[in-house]
Amino acid sequence: MFEAARLREFKHVPAAEWQVEDSAHAISFAHDIACDLPNERIGADWIAARFASDYKGSRQRFVQLAQDAGAALTSYPVGGRSPGGEALTIDIAELSGQLPLSRAHAVLVVISGVHGSEGRVGSAIQQELLAARPQLPRAARLMLVHALNPFGMANERRSNAQNVDLNRNFTSSYSGVPEGYEELRGLLSPASAKELEASLERFEHMSTEERHALQKALAPGQYEYPGDPFYGGRERSENLNHLTRHLAARIGETARLLFIDIHTGLGKGGEDTLFFLGENAELFAKLRASLAPRHTIRDPHATIPFFNRVHGSIAGGLAKEFGAHEAASCVQEIGTYPEQLLSTLAVENYCAQAKESSLADVSRELSREFFCPANETWRRGVLQRGTDLAVRAGDALFGSK
Ligand SMILES: [Zn+2]
Repeated sequence: MFEAARLREFKHVPAAEWQVEDSAHAISFAHDIACDLPNERIGADWIAARFASDYKGSRQRFVQLAQDAGAALTSYPVGGRSPGGEALTIDIAELSGQLPLSRAHAVLVVISGVHGSEGRVGSAIQQELLAARPQLPRAARLMLVHALNPFGMANERRSNAQNVDLNRNFTSSYSGVPEGYEELRGLLSPASAKELEASLERFEHMSTEERHALQKALAPGQYEYPGDPFYGGRERSENLNHLTRHLAARIGETARLLFIDIHTGLGKGGEDTLFFLGENAELFAKLRASLAPRHTIRDPHATIPFFNRVHGSIAGGLAKEFGAHEAASCVQEIGTYPEQLLSTLAVENYCAQAKESSLADVSRELSREFFCPANETWRRGVLQRGTDLAVRAGDALFGSK
């Protein structure tokens, strides 16, 4: 049996000091409407209030703030249980201007927890948006989708109760594996404790080029190995069905839709990278002008390790499915510990598949720290970058013709 002690020695170390920009600025949803979120407001207590320690706490805070803000709330129960046995729900809060929900002309949708273990970060950003009580323009709506994958969020797993990676599940073709997958899959899906040790050892000495090659072969999504990471499933997950059906029932006469999908774990620690998907050149040009000084914007078609090859992503699928509403998407990836992504995934997958209960706690701790570091500077930066993106996106979307 694998020694839990060996895992306990495996600690996440920040590659460099995490930086947070210093400029306080007022945020607004279109023109005359403003709400202030100055830096000095985000003190230690403030950060602690936004980042709950688990799914249950995050959900409670989100629901409370949504009620305080007068939002319409809808909850969808999904399969699986939290470690404490609690039921799990996807919760959607909606705020609108003066027009009824179905007649809003522009809708900004902010999604958290597509990957469960990244969910507390998206939840904190959504809570911050609710707490700011944004006053929306007359024909605008803000829709906050909390914990699309509540099972993963409650259990510190990227995937849902069926081990389906929701970010590889929005497709109509559920078969195949990426080129080179078979030869490399054992590294992230070790069959024994010994193999896991060998994987961790190999990741420690891997060059950046090797790491990128590995991500390219493993991360785009696969549909043949239900126990491996990045498994896209055999059909549309219930999580995705709840989201698309809710949207289809709500958007009515909406002319423009923008989805923001918040993730962590990719990219330089404490910085965020944005990827635009869909067809809305005018909106993207506005967003670029507004966001470029503060956020890194990457072209998903450019040659980054694997992003342009991802199959079945939520952001790409939503932009396509709701194309008649000028739908576009922005993925926000916030970096944590870039050197340790592969090790974290291998440990998480091994512990889940081997069902070694003696390691479950250690694995959960590692995932928790990797995807949502318990570091005040990092968390302050996340709240700033997350709210800044949402508010600027709202300005660009609601302000356009
Ligand atoms: Zn993610």
